Amino acid sequence: MLATEEFARHAAQLLTSDDEELVTAMEREHARQHNSLMLVASSSVTDPSVLACLATSSMNVTAEGYPGARYHAGCEAIDPVERMAVDRARDLFGARYANVQPHSATTANYAVLSAVLDPGDCVLGMRLNHGGHLTHGYSVAYSGTYFTPVNYGLDERGQIDYDEVAALAAEHRPKLIICGATAYPRTVDFARFRAIADSVGALLMADISHIAGLVAAGLHPSPIDHAHITTSCTHKQLAGPRGGVIMSGRDAGTVLPGTGRTIARTLDRAVFPFFQGAPVLPAIAAKARAFALAATDGYRDTAQRILDDSAALAAELTALGHDVVTGGSDNHIVLLDLTRDNVSGLAAERALESIGIVVNKNRVPGDARPAAITSGVRIGTNAVAQRGLGPREMRTCAGIIHAVLTAMEPVGDRDFVLDGFTAARLRAEVEKLAAEFPLPRYLPGGQL
Ligand SMILES: *Cc1c(COP(=O)(O)O)cnc(C)c1O
Repeated sequence: MLATEEFARHAAQLLTSDDEELVTAMEREHARQHNSLMLVASSSVTDPSVLACLATSSMNVTAEGYPGARYHAGCEAIDPVERMAVDRARDLFGARYANVQPHSATTANYAVLSAVLDPGDCVLGMRLNHGGHLTHGYSVAYSGTYFTPVNYGLDERGQIDYDEVAALAAEHRPKLIICGATAYPRTVDFARFRAIADSVGALLMADISHIAGLVAAGLHPSPIDHAHITTSCTHKQLAGPRGGVIMSGRDAGTVLPGTGRTIARTLDRAVFPFFQGAPVLPAIAAKARAFALAATDGYRDTAQRILDDSAALAAELTALGHDVVTGGSDNHIVLLDLTRDNVSGLAAERALESIGIVVNKNRVPGDARPAAITSGVRIGTNAVAQRGLGPREMRTCAGIIHAVLTAMEPVGDRDFVLDGFTAARLRAEVEKLAAEFPLPRYLPGGQL
């Protein structure tokens, strides 16, 4: 079989001898991951067995259509791979329907929007600068230009304002309501969203890109039977390949008014032929592998550590005098408001990166700075929990973040100065932690 060790070694040797320039660049990236602490909330560590699926001859198959109903011959051997991915997604999330072909969560969301909305129809989603996503109804994206977006946001405590959701739904009668977020540290009440959707006859889509791992592990309530349709990427908390998945639970067989088609059938047609062409089979194989890993006890332990880590990080940062939005976290995200620290999100992001802590600038409720600068940073514990760093190490990390934020001198909103001695000391602390907790199941010393 081509995914054997022998083939992997052979392929790597060919690459090294044929394209040294490219290999050198990619090795630098691998070293960066190994030597730093990835606290970007959307990142995670892909298991090598998932990566192995991507470097296989399944890349050579063109398979437009679905298993058993392709537009090309030669798909008989690959069809079971896609069926396996579908079955594993359904098992993992308790869904009745799954489509594993979307190339990303963005594509998955747009397939859904195109399937259930006509151009110009109203869609109600979370405001981008309150933690929503570009695909949930935003003016610079397809979602907010081909459809008519209305946005809900957070209340003064930084929590989703469900009364506002209900009021906007009653006023605008959207055809689709979208819940799920990209920078929201608290539990989403999917049942409440469904009740609001039902009260105005809207469909409900839940986008669980950020929390799919916690949902799979039973550590966040599942939207599968509350939302008509659930979407997710497969590469954030699920730690799979770059890609998307669309699912449906008890409403999979519900017939959409005016179409005569079930939601399941509508979604299949929306992905292919409406929105995409041929699927990427190696990515689908890798999704099957990632879904299997996410169903293990080991994954559940990791998911629990993700929660323990973010709770410890939020508590320690608070104890050190920083402003954690909503006062804590129910998931992997800790959102830090830096207004009181007198540094911008961008300057903090850069200062932290200079010593090996990788986070992203993020707007916070009431933020006066633009999205490219911001007044906050978003910190996520997926990757560090996968590497085995626990609450004790998170307290150390909080101390390092605190040291950077207090020692750095911002230069305007974009730059900073950090004295060389402090920077070297903190960088060494980060590298020590990183070396102590190598990327899991990668080779010792961080080699691929
Ligand atoms: C990251 C994210 C997406 C987009 O995922 P891609 O696969 O990168 O397109 C969609 N929705 C939410 C809520 C996200 O956080």
